[in-house]
Amino acid sequence: MEHVFDVVIVGGGPAGCAAGIHLAKEGHRVAILEKARFPRYMVGESLIPYCYFPLERLGLLDKIEAAGFQAKHSVQFASTNGNCSQPFYFQQHMNHRAATTWQVDRAAFDQILLDHAREMGVQVFEETAARALIRDDAGSVIGVQARRGDEPLTFAATLTIDASGRDTFAMTKNQWRVRDPYLKKVAIWTYYEHAKRDTGLDEGATTIAYLPDKGWFWFLPLSKNLTSVGIVAEKDYLYAETRDPAAIFAREIENNLWIKDHLAGARVAGEYRVTGDYSYRSKHIAEDGLVLVGDAFAFLDPVFSSGLFLALVSGEMGGMAANEALRDGDVSASRFADYAESFIGGMEAFRKLVYLFYDHDFRFGHLVKRHPDRRPELTDCLIGNIFRDFDKLFQAMSEFAPLPEPLSHGRPLTAATR
Ligand SMILES: Cc1cc2nc3c(=O)[nH]c(=O)nc-3n(C[C@H](O)[C@H](O)[C@H](O)COP(=O)(O)OP(=O)(O)OC[C@H]3O[C@@H](n4cnc5c(N)ncnc54)[C@H](O)[C@@H]3O)c2cc1C
Repeated sequence: MEHVFDVVIVGGGPAGCAAGIHLAKEGHRVAILEKARFPRYMVGESLIPYCYFPLERLGLLDKIEAAGFQAKHSVQFASTNGNCSQPFYFQQHMNHRAATTWQVDRAAFDQILLDHAREMGVQVFEETAARALIRDDAGSVIGVQARRGDEPLTFAATLTIDASGRDTFAMTKNQWRVRDPYLKKVAIWTYYEHAKRDTGLDEGATTIAYLPDKGWFWFLPLSKNLTSVGIVAEKDYLYAETRDPAAIFAREIENNLWIKDHLAGARVAGEYRVTGDYSYRSKHIAEDGLVLVGDAFAFLDPVFSSGLFLALVSGEMGGMAANEALRDGDVSASRFADYAESFIGGMEAFRKLVYLFYDHDFRFGHLVKRHPDRRPELTDCLIGNIFRDFDKLFQAMSEFAPLPEPLSHGRPLTAATR
């Protein structure tokens, strides 16, 4: 069966929904193909304050505020000996509702976004997996072949948006994956019931708890007394003695006294999940008839909880560029050059912070002590205000550790770059 749309979006996660909602509001006929039936499990529960703004623009804020997710006001850092830093409260930096953000159950959060996309007029096809890109004689993408159960479906579209997350549908088909040369971590995580919680404003704080050799735990208190706890570290370190996630968890809990204390009366309430080698960026963000958003384009690292924010803003920015391209009747790759420059520029700021976090010679505390006047920019970067000039901050940082050069790939595949 053949369906015809202005835009077909592969993936109904936050990036796909953000793009779809924007384009439907602009009056385009939009389809989202989602291989799962929602609600479905997804990792990535901790939001940063600047998620507020895309959620507000997409008309989602009231629904998210009403959903009862655990409020998050701060981030804190716990050293291996159990000492915890003063929480960093977002409201100290911004006097705005955005200073209260959330730790979300992604199944529920993503369901709200997908339902909202439907309400805005997007046609959502669940349990429908994109299988192949369709191309015209000139090689431009003109839609996707998909399957719902045994039924083959054809979705013809003027523009295809890949928002398939870490499945990286188009990146894989096009062999565009470039792994990050340095960030080669493994993450293991699970969920606990009845972990110890701080009280009041601190109840929903993200805690980053250090392990020896630049590994770390995340500790994210969710609603319903559930806590998401994960370990991120180098593969060689984590798997040195065993590959059994439960045994690795038991071993590493002994290596951080804050985590040990907070999990002392808790019970594992979910399976252990593992992912490795997850940092990548696509060689190209677009080709004629196709544009990539969210994790389908790139993923950095969980450490500063940037993933959902980047998914929402790239969905929005890619959606805006798509709207203009559709209006002008030209969906060639070059139409996405500005989206690429702005989005990659912002992403590079996070990338520098991530590299520094893992650098053995670098401490954020030392940076702020020597350069107290740079603290506002550092904070801006951490809360997601990334589309601004950080030259002075990066100059100060480079006194402590080498900063990575911006990656040269990720621009649209145009006739000039082919
Ligand atoms: C270990 C780990 C911890 C993380 N922690 C955080 C955190 O605390 N905070 C944070 O902000 N981010 C975190 N992230 C990142 C976050 O999970 C992602 O950045 C975010 O989910 C990306 O959204 P997306 O819409 O691009 O993709 P996704 O949320 O992955 O959505 C993609 C959708 O596409 C669908 N799909 C895939 N292939 C197809 C296909 N062929 N056809 C149809 N549908 C398809 C999938 O079913 C899925 O629903 C973490 C990531 C990892 C790996």
